[in-house]
Amino acid sequence: MDISKSLAEIRSDFHLIMVGSGPYLHEMKVDLNGLPAIFTGFLEGDELAQAYASADIFIFPSTTDTFGNVVLEAQASGLPVIVSDEGGPKENLIPDKTGFIVPAKNPGALSEAVFKLMNNPQRLKKLRFAMIKPFENFNQLIALFSDLRCNRIPGQLVIQLTDRCNAFCPQCGMRVTKKFKRSTLSADNVKRIIDAAAQKGVNVVSFTGGEPFLFLDRLVMFIKYAGEAGIEYIRTGTNGFMFANHHSAHFESRVKKVAETLVSTLLRNFWISIDSAVPSVHEQMQGLPDVIAGIEKALPIFHEQGIYPSANLGINRNVGGDMTKGLRVNAIIEDDDYLGSFYIAFKKAFREFYCLLSNWDLQW
Ligand code: SF4
Repeated sequence: MDISKSLAEIRSDFHLIMVGSGPYLHEMKVDLNGLPAIFTGFLEGDELAQAYASADIFIFPSTTDTFGNVVLEAQASGLPVIVSDEGGPKENLIPDKTGFIVPAKNPGALSEAVFKLMNNPQRLKKLRFAMIKPFENFNQLIALFSDLRCNRIPGQLVIQLTDRCNAFCPQCGMRVTKKFKRSTLSADNVKRIIDAAAQKGVNVVSFTGGEPFLFLDRLVMFIKYAGEAGIEYIRTGTNGFMFANHHSAHFESRVKKVAETLVSTLLRNFWISIDSAVPSVHEQMQGLPDVIAGIEKALPIFHEQGIYPSANLGINRNVGGDMTKGLRVNAIIEDDDYLGSFYIAFKKAFREFYCLLSNWDLQW
């Protein structure tokens, strides 16, 4: 909002087009009242493509997104992107070639980047041109997926219930140590989204966070609601925090209660995020001591209830970094060969993941 105000003061041709919805929408509308700002609400399909095509620059200052698919979509539509230096989106562009990375939560830096681009139409043109090549393949991929989807692969809706989390994952902007105003979707909004999805024939819904199991009662309520709305495949996931402290006297009964609660719903599957094939690395990254032993202990309890959790393999950007030095082959230890090191560690990590998880008898 700050950047819109300052840019609107300097440039009469600046227009903010805000696509999407969220808990701050009303506040933003009020704050930007009278300024050149258009709020389109939630868009999809052709309307969304039109919004991308009508814009000159795509600004995505989120500090909490772990991936940022929209940043790829924008570039694939020929839009230069400006993202923050926190979270996953910064890894989805070619810096200074298809977009810019600016310091997080720094409206001054963000407006400066936008201002510079607006003042340099030649540069803007060059950036657009630079994007055509790298994203040609991406567009082909999107076309292929759209093709495959035709009545065969059901569309999946991911509902991020909350950005609250109790884990410490260093790669994630939602980690518990990050200071920002957290939010959780209201029950009314979640139900509205589920109703709309069911009406449109969406058959797969995933509830994510943050950590959705922090709000188990609400999560269960939404799973039941989605089931009653006719959604066939309902999934959710956890970082596994409830499997920590497995030495506690109440561990088994606690896990059994969770399993019984889940089995009473139409939940199809839930995943446990595993961030490394090396248990100590995973535990250190998530800040959940001894949780791997807890997961191993909890699985048979779920199996007894007929629930076979899956593993969400999070081989992430820390592979090849300091925390996974143990995975590096001896020949590649120099930091300046990070990519080579990453590649080899990634392959090794993948193999080790599968070995570790097959031993757990997880569902694939
Ligand atoms: S568990 Fe997931 S949401 Fe929580 S900090 Fe780790 S990656 Fe982020």
